Amino acid sequence: MTAFNPQDDFRSWGNVLKAQHQVARPVWRDQLRATALGGRQQGLTLLGTGLRRSYGDSGLNPGGGIIDMTGVDRILHFDPAQRLVRAEAGLSFDTLLQVIVRQGFFLPVTPGTRYVTLGGAVGNDVHGKNHHRNGTIGRWVRRLGLLRSNGEELELSPSENPELFAATIGGLGLTGLITWVEMELIAIESAMIDAESISFENLDAFFTLSKESEEQFDYTVSWIDCLAKGASIGRGLFSRGNHAKVGSRLSDQGNTRFTMPLNLPSLAMNRYSISAFNALYYWNGKRKAGEARVPLHSFFYPLDSIGRWNRLYGRKGMFQYQSVVPPSVQRDATKEMLEAISASGQGSFLAVLKTFGAEKSPGLLSFPTEGTTLALDFPNHGSETLRLMARLDAIVREAGGRLYPAKDGRMSAQMFQAGYPAWQEFAKYVDSGFSSHLWQRVSQI
Ligand SMILES: Cc1cc2nc3c(=O)[nH]c(=O)nc-3n(C[C@H](O)[C@H](O)[C@H](O)COP(=O)(O)OP(=O)(O)OC[C@H]3O[C@@H](n4cnc5c(N)ncnc54)[C@H](O)[C@@H]3O)c2cc1C
Repeated sequence: MTAFNPQDDFRSWGNVLKAQHQVARPVWRDQLRATALGGRQQGLTLLGTGLRRSYGDSGLNPGGGIIDMTGVDRILHFDPAQRLVRAEAGLSFDTLLQVIVRQGFFLPVTPGTRYVTLGGAVGNDVHGKNHHRNGTIGRWVRRLGLLRSNGEELELSPSENPELFAATIGGLGLTGLITWVEMELIAIESAMIDAESISFENLDAFFTLSKESEEQFDYTVSWIDCLAKGASIGRGLFSRGNHAKVGSRLSDQGNTRFTMPLNLPSLAMNRYSISAFNALYYWNGKRKAGEARVPLHSFFYPLDSIGRWNRLYGRKGMFQYQSVVPPSVQRDATKEMLEAISASGQGSFLAVLKTFGAEKSPGLLSFPTEGTTLALDFPNHGSETLRLMARLDAIVREAGGRLYPAKDGRMSAQMFQAGYPAWQEFAKYVDSGFSSHLWQRVSQI
């Protein structure tokens, strides 16, 4: 068994919530059962965590026990002929990429950072720039191991324990501890991407570009200037790409060049600096738009080039806000949200807009549904920021949309339950020995 030790300042990526947790850091898979049972005997509820890249409170369990899985990170089996990899749940995408890219394989789905674990990616059923082609990562999971709080070890797949499998994909760690994952990979011919960047003037131009690009490109995403006003609302830079057919297959080493050594003073993030950044980024991007063959990491993981970039937001941290709204209202609802943000003056450096495809997500609580997703980082200015997000909630709810729990640290139970009508079905599969701050908040009736 691995002991649980108190850690006072246990946080998630947004840095807004800080609380004491009892944390166990096992290294071997055969320690997991005794660790979970030991934690339960001490009266702790449990929660598995990975690299804690979730922004809010889905990976926090104040007063409870955390099983940090990052030490349980071995590759167990790799079958190039079947394009299958089986690995312990704490393995990071970063390490996995260093192994598979040089052998001509890539992740079927990747989020915008390589510093996530397999278990964490499954726990949130993550999506990437190729959602319109490949859906979420859960579609590529063939089997996984799940440890329940009573010590029972189960193997789940779409055909074995299918209901618990569907609850565990995107299940926010609440159905038990994922111990290993077997996942299908995709074949690539080089470690390069043929990328293209195009500037667009407004929201209508974004939707036109998305439609035409999704037919020809595996990957699409846009950065938008969320403080633009009037006819320029929704202007931004559209990025699209395909795996290059030629180029080096050398291992992909990641791209962290610089790590933020400390938190910036909160004053650095004000409406003037954010507004100036957005305008400058747009005009610079417009000037440099065009085609280029670029390495995988610079296309998929530009933010990873600054380690601990969350410290840019200072001690008060930041909130992420990611919504999806259905196709029938996506233009009007997105415009309304951008107008509310622009009017509030509380901008975001990182405003990302993407259309999700029709591919159904396999998890009961998976976030992606067909429509348009908008993701923003808001520096935490207290009640002013909470008021803006409440206004956005009203627009998303009216549109029949939902928020991404991986990014959330404050949505109400009503907002969650309206967005995830399957939540009560999901609740039947929650392991009563597991919990999280998010779940305690959003499952209240
Ligand atoms: C820069 C950046 C870009 C991002 N881009 C995207 C994106 O494009 N698409 C997207 O979908 N997400 C994105 N995210 C969010 C991130 O991909 C997810 O939050 C991801 O799940 C984090 O993985 P993790 O290993 O850090 O997991 P954690 O944050 O530690 O945990 C995630 C969830 O999984 C559970 N969990 C973790 N490990 C286990 C386990 N072994 N067993 C059971 N449950 C477990 C946790 O309890 C928690 O509920 C981004 C985050 C950042 C910081």
